[in-house]
Amino acid sequence: MSAIHRALKEHFGFDRFRSQQQEDAVKAVLKGDRDVFVCMPTGAGKSLVYQLPALLSSGITLVISPLIALIQDQVEHLKALNVPARSINSKLPSAERRQILADLESESPRLKLLYITPEMVASPSFQPCLSSLCSRGLLAYLAVDEAHCVSQWGHDFRPDYLKLGDLRSRLRDVPCVALTATAPQRVQEDIERSLKLRSPLLFATPVFRKNLKYDVIFRDLLPEPYVHLLAFAKEALGGNTAEKGCGIVYCRTRESCEEVAHKLTKLGISAKPYHAGLKAGDRTESQADWMADKVPVIVATISFGMGVDKANVRFVVHWNVAKSLASYYQESGRAGRDGLPSSCRIYYSPKDRDQLGFLIRKEISRKQEKRGSQKEQDKAPIQDFEAMVAFCEQEGCRHATISQFFGNQKPNCAGACDFCRDPKLVRAQLARAAVLSTS
Ligand code: ADP
Ligand code: MG
Ligand code: ZN
Repeated sequence: MSAIHRALKEHFGFDRFRSQQQEDAVKAVLKGDRDVFVCMPTGAGKSLVYQLPALLSSGITLVISPLIALIQDQVEHLKALNVPARSINSKLPSAERRQILADLESESPRLKLLYITPEMVASPSFQPCLSSLCSRGLLAYLAVDEAHCVSQWGHDFRPDYLKLGDLRSRLRDVPCVALTATAPQRVQEDIERSLKLRSPLLFATPVFRKNLKYDVIFRDLLPEPYVHLLAFAKEALGGNTAEKGCGIVYCRTRESCEEVAHKLTKLGISAKPYHAGLKAGDRTESQADWMADKVPVIVATISFGMGVDKANVRFVVHWNVAKSLASYYQESGRAGRDGLPSSCRIYYSPKDRDQLGFLIRKEISRKQEKRGSQKEQDKAPIQDFEAMVAFCEQEGCRHATISQFFGNQKPNCAGACDFCRDPKLVRAQLARAAVLSTS
């Protein structure tokens, strides 16, 4: 057994790496000669990519993370594993803080991982400690977790994260590891630039999943949309086969959740609504019944699905268009986690597009009025939405559009989207929609 595998077992109790990619990324970080950029979905095990090398190297790894709560969770988890990890933050009792600083000032500190927010790392009170660690060459790595926070195009941009560029310049010889979940290409580029990464090695999970079939149906062209939805759901669930599957229908409003669930149930597939307007008990019941395969279809607002990991989701329908291509990828990606063929469909409607576009612009003006000024990143939600609209209204491979949006090569779709299966049908639908919009 290699030293890396031994350490994986000894410190974390894991017999093997989660994935080849996790292993490759750990090894690249350990080698220490290049910056490393990790883009893997939530739950893929990104933390290990810097935690294991931190334990195998001499010196201290500085971990930047956006929230004290997040930091505390991680530090508690590591302490339970007997890993010397601490955090310095504003909530720390001063005795403990003195203790940590004393360790860091000592000749050979015991600490291996120091978690800290970007605000704290920039604060004057931390500078003497940081300078001393730097000048004594005691920093092994700089890890920037949730790195999308540095990007003005990232969904939770934090101005203080931008100062990390300066930190990076001060730590010129310390290799940097940036980690984020799957992010759009321009967010990735922004991260590289802001953190001054030097031609980093990229470890990114490919976004293309060949078991997912994508298509777009123009809802306003259908004489009976609910019957159409029913037929789709039935086919995706495989008729009367013994093997149970299930599906998710996403709607924008509570009312449409209720309406769609009611219609589907009446037409013969039992479906339950899930939204914030339900009593907590009813909402929990909807989810539990769906999780237990008692009810095959859940009709939900996008608040549903965070942390839900169900293997046999055979379809994800968007009854209303999603607010960005990135969220659409994430939401539709809840289908087919078991690797079996599954379908992702948008019931697109230009009326819907205009309504959502209006709401997005209204939200931006509300923010601007509150702030009293405009900012470059205010445009991000509009551009994100435009990418979603283009996906629906395009003549082209849907998988290719998604892959390219996340900076991946064009994949071999091989008929896993409506356009590649039958481009004429997609063109005909667009032509009919164009006629409808002018009439
Ligand atoms: P991410 O930051 O990518 O969302 P985390 O680092 O929080 O993911 O890890 C998610 C979960 O996976 C954690 O519970 C972690 O302990 C577990 N995990 C990480 N690596 C492995 C592994 N090699 N084997 C088994 N579980 C792992
Ligand atoms: Mg993480
Ligand atoms: Zn295609």
